[in-house]
Amino acid sequence: MTAPADATDVLIVGGGPAGLATAIELARRERRVTVIDRHDDAPGAATLLTPRAAAATRRLGIDLADHFHPIERIRITGIDPDDPGMRSTSSRWPRLRGVPDIGYVGDRAALVDALRGLAGSLGVRELDSHEATEPIVERGFVRGAVVRTPGGEHDEVRATFTVVADGANSQFGRLLGTFRQPDWPLAVAYGGDYRSPLHLAGEAEIVVGITDRAGAPIAGYGWMFPTGRGTVGVGLMLLSTSPSFQVINPSHLHERLLDEHGLRWQLDRDPVVAPSGGRVPLGGSVGPLAGPTFLIIGDAAAAANPLTGLGVDTALETGIMAGDVVGEALDTANSAALQQYPKLFDDRYGSYYKLGRLTARLLGQPAFSRRVYEALASRPSYADSALRIATQHLRSGRGGGPELLYRIARTVAIFAPDA
Ligand SMILES: Cc1cc2nc3c(=O)[nH]c(=O)nc-3n(C[C@H](O)[C@H](O)[C@H](O)COP(=O)(O)OP(=O)(O)OC[C@H]3O[C@@H](n4cnc5c(N)ncnc54)[C@H](O)[C@@H]3O)c2cc1C
Repeated sequence: MTAPADATDVLIVGGGPAGLATAIELARRERRVTVIDRHDDAPGAATLLTPRAAAATRRLGIDLADHFHPIERIRITGIDPDDPGMRSTSSRWPRLRGVPDIGYVGDRAALVDALRGLAGSLGVRELDSHEATEPIVERGFVRGAVVRTPGGEHDEVRATFTVVADGANSQFGRLLGTFRQPDWPLAVAYGGDYRSPLHLAGEAEIVVGITDRAGAPIAGYGWMFPTGRGTVGVGLMLLSTSPSFQVINPSHLHERLLDEHGLRWQLDRDPVVAPSGGRVPLGGSVGPLAGPTFLIIGDAAAAANPLTGLGVDTALETGIMAGDVVGEALDTANSAALQQYPKLFDDRYGSYYKLGRLTARLLGQPAFSRRVYEALASRPSYADSALRIATQHLRSGRGGGPELLYRIARTVAIFAPDA
């Protein structure tokens, strides 16, 4: 169980939001932590940080208000079928005890910088531009990783426990035997940033009812995120459940989004951050989440919300959870503590994600999604409820509209075949 003197207690593969959250939690427990990151050159496009992301960073010791642009409201906009114009509703973030009712727009790179600064100040060893190429396995137990250094040499980083936080493609996770359910929904996100005099707006906009070439609605949404630093992020989150998903070209749809909404947002079409995209695995579609000496967190664990495709908040939350569990395993010198993590993950997200996956499938049916998107853009009470459900701001023990609706749907989902 104990690592050699020159080794680290915990090796974290991937220094994104998830891995750094675990590192900070463990460093606070005075554990020796090493984070390695190969630094994919992810462009710093606008990212919506939900109130739950704000709560998680606050717990870690970072106030997002010190770094990012506040977002007080969410506007849902859609096409009105009875009127050639657009309709929209505006909602405040739902209130939930222990969670601030404010979100932020920042960018992933700036969030990572803030987390890295904190981790470094707590003594976390960060190996930049290092890539984990394969796990070190001894008598069936993972004991760290072989890493490629910036000079191209191979070194070993040995550790008592390894936390895998290597993001959506999770090649390191696959080497440990993780598997993504191939027929469960995933999302493709695609966005860039554009200059706009409206960059200080306190309201982010979600555009629903985006259609494919044949005019059928696509499951997903467009976004306009004012950044407070001269630009507005414009992008798309597309769920894989639409029949036309395989043939959709996100860059064409993105152009159309800019054409339809660019004037309202007074966008300069020359991008400051060129649009780019990637896949987001959703809804707990990856497993197993734990082995005898390792855990899988964040996008590597498909922790992102299956309704919204947002994954920074769940990356931070699963990172904190893993920090607690690994910390306990080290404190008690008992690696069995790691086996609590899949259950904690399931308690927190399991039934919500199952319902989310089923809903994502329903939204893939144009007749259903057309009605839902029309209602969201024209009825404020529906939009408020949808925002509460979609951001998982459900109040336990409350019989109010969204909670009641959610409980009924969850009961139905128990009897549904897995989505
Ligand atoms: C275009 C786009 C827009 C998005 N917008 C939003 C948004 O507005 N709000 C939101 O909440 N979510 C958004 N998401 C999702 C969000 O970015 C992810 O859910 C979140 O970043 C997951 O954090 P993570 O730490 O798990 O993984 P990542 O942020 O992907 O971090 C993984 C890290 O691991 C490193 N790594 C990978 N393999 C190795 C290896 N072998 N060795 C060493 N290092 C390695 C990478 O360099 C990377 O730094 C978006 C996603 C995309 C693609």
